[in-house]
Amino acid sequence: MPAVMSLASRSAGPTKPPAERRGLGSYLALLFSLLSVLVTVVLLLVSERIASDQVRTSIGNNLAELADQTTGRLDRAMFERYREVSLMAQRLSSASLDEVRTEIDAMQRTYANYTWVGYVDPSGRVLASTAGVLAGEDVSARRWFTAAGQGQNVLDVHDAVLLAKLMPDPSGEPRRFVDIVFPIERSPQGAAPLLAVHLSWQWAQEIVRAIFSPLKQTRGVEPVIVGRDGTVLLGPQDVQGQRLVLPSLAAADHGTGFITERWPDGKEYVVGYSLDRGFRAYQGLGWRVLVRQDLGTAFAPVRQLQRHLVLWGLGVALLFSAVGLLAARVVTRPLNELAADARELEAGGTLGQLTAGPYREVSQLGGAMRSLLQAVQQKETALRDLNASLERRVEERTAALRETFEHVRESERRIQTILASSPEPFIAVDFNGRITDWNSRAEALFGWRRAEVEGRSIVEVLVPERYRVASENALRHVAASARPPLGGAPIERIVVDRHGREIEVELRVGIVDSGKLQLLCIFMTDISRRKEVDRLKTEFVSTVSHELRTPLTAVYGSLRLLSGGVAGQLPAQGRQLLEMSTRSCERLIRLINDVLDVERIASGRLELRTAPLDLRALVEHALHDTEAFAHELGVRVRLDDREAGEVQVVADGDRVTQVVVNLLSNAAKYSPRGDEVLVTLHVLDGRARVTVVDHGPGIPAEFRSRVFERFAQADASDRREKGGTGLGLNICRSIVEAHGGTIGFESEPGVRTAFWFELPAGDTQPLPG
Ligand code: ADP
Repeated sequence: MPAVMSLASRSAGPTKPPAERRGLGSYLALLFSLLSVLVTVVLLLVSERIASDQVRTSIGNNLAELADQTTGRLDRAMFERYREVSLMAQRLSSASLDEVRTEIDAMQRTYANYTWVGYVDPSGRVLASTAGVLAGEDVSARRWFTAAGQGQNVLDVHDAVLLAKLMPDPSGEPRRFVDIVFPIERSPQGAAPLLAVHLSWQWAQEIVRAIFSPLKQTRGVEPVIVGRDGTVLLGPQDVQGQRLVLPSLAAADHGTGFITERWPDGKEYVVGYSLDRGFRAYQGLGWRVLVRQDLGTAFAPVRQLQRHLVLWGLGVALLFSAVGLLAARVVTRPLNELAADARELEAGGTLGQLTAGPYREVSQLGGAMRSLLQAVQQKETALRDLNASLERRVEERTAALRETFEHVRESERRIQTILASSPEPFIAVDFNGRITDWNSRAEALFGWRRAEVEGRSIVEVLVPERYRVASENALRHVAASARPPLGGAPIERIVVDRHGREIEVELRVGIVDSGKLQLLCIFMTDISRRKEVDRLKTEFVSTVSHELRTPLTAVYGSLRLLSGGVAGQLPAQGRQLLEMSTRSCERLIRLINDVLDVERIASGRLELRTAPLDLRALVEHALHDTEAFAHELGVRVRLDDREAGEVQVVADGDRVTQVVVNLLSNAAKYSPRGDEVLVTLHVLDGRARVTVVDHGPGIPAEFRSRVFERFAQADASDRREKGGTGLGLNICRSIVEAHGGTIGFESEPGVRTAFWFELPAGDTQPLPG
């Protein structure tokens, strides 16, 4: 059951996915995870970039703000001192020296950072001073003194060696001061004394400390106050007193801001900067306040933010992956259920098991599977039916074939038996002339065993050397046309046997051409003996004829003489006897002539003495010769010569006349008394045709094939009644064919019989007139 088996094997194919293959759920979960990781990473990168920038800017701005705040505080404090000294100078304009002393002492007490306050006369001598320091000394060489002369009230911070000696700092640090000097306007004329204050640098340190000490501990924020010339006035140990060249300093000249830069200690800092611009009347000293913070420390919040973002991102990615896994489960569960249903169905369940899914796609898939399975089941049933019917048909055909095969085998056996027991030699050859069959009679006749000649060429085995080329050609022609030679009529040939003895045979050739099988079937008859007998017979007849003709001619001559009255008038009875004898003698002579002709023709000794002649004249002549004979039979002979004039042929005149006379006398013989025999002469396609027409009994159908054979007569009584021999037409045919012509007849018994012959015609000239 091949069809069913193939169906079964197909349905038993792999129904479960191979174990190593991942399910749709895994793919979906993986996809979700990847997507969430991707989205998280992208979001992270973007937010990190934005947030970091913001945080960086805010940190920088904070530092800048700090710097600005510091300059502001310094300026304000400086302004306070500036204003206080200026007010004091005004107040002292009318004070006595003692009052001055009291005032300046009181002034120092109010603010500890006034390290030294002095009252200096215009020549530079110190008239009064706090704690009497430098009292009476000449300070005209001091820079602040000369600067005050030029209207400069505030002098930038500087080290004061002299005062440091007189008033050493308790901490041991070098003493540095900012000098504030105002003239005391005493009188409208003359030079004014000066009120000079040395403000301890401690002042600035205190302000800075107040601002930065809480910050520095936590965030490492360090203030650097840089003088107009770039020297660090106040700052961390590593830069204190150094002259700095930094981008931030340059930038500070243009306002407040922040920058990230590398400092001489090799570290990178975020630096906020600001320029001291003074406050109100106080012009400022052109200080620049830098607030630096180590880059690592400054941007620690940025890194922390990044860490947070990464952690959050990972968390979110994990969450999304979990959600994805869950979603994949939800999506694939109905599909798995459907697959389980299908497997159960395959194991023998019913179609109703294919459950409807929770969502449309699965329902549709289930529906599609249902209809698919229905279709498959229907197809399977149809296939089973088809298979059954096919098997039935195959069985029937097999039986029929077996029968046919048996039949063929039987036929073959029969044919083999027939061929083997055939009394005649049988040979089969293929279209190339190779022998395929050779029966026992052929073995006996030719002396070759079948096995010896099978596959060999028939021409090589049987045909004498001299005929081989012609035989090969004939064989090729037969094979090409697939028609037996001479329409299957018997053919006489000479063949040789194993010992080179020549044998005359008659062949009959049949053709088998079924496409696959192409054979020539040849039956042979050994006619050597028949030929020999024929020859002996002919020889005998010819000898007898010759021997008879001479005395008969003599007898005939004598009879003619007697009829002519050489022996005087005979009585009526005697004349009658004489006439009968003459006629018999004539008939005998005719017979003998015919026999001799036939013998001559058969032995190939018929000689033609051809010459150009006018066939019409010849026919007229023959007609004339036959007229008397016809007349005796009460028959007229007439030439219907309307259609042709002179017809030229190259022929033996006597022999052609013999043919015409024979046809005419036959027609006359078989015509009813009083009838007319008509002779016509035509020329058609280069052939001259003579036709002799009578209206006698004609040629019966069964005799037609033998009309031209020797001694052939339709009726045995003919010979007696009509005095024929049955040789005439045979001789006619030989003569006509020897001329390259043809002879034939058409006969409608009792109505019309026409015998005709054709000869190749030469020139044809129309009848004159
Ligand atoms: P025969 O000498 O007998 O005439 P032919 O060979 O001439 O011999 O003729 C052979 C036979 O053909 C005749 O015996 C006759 O039976 C038949 N035959 C020939 N010519 C005619 C004809 N015109 N009408 C009828 N039969 C004819």
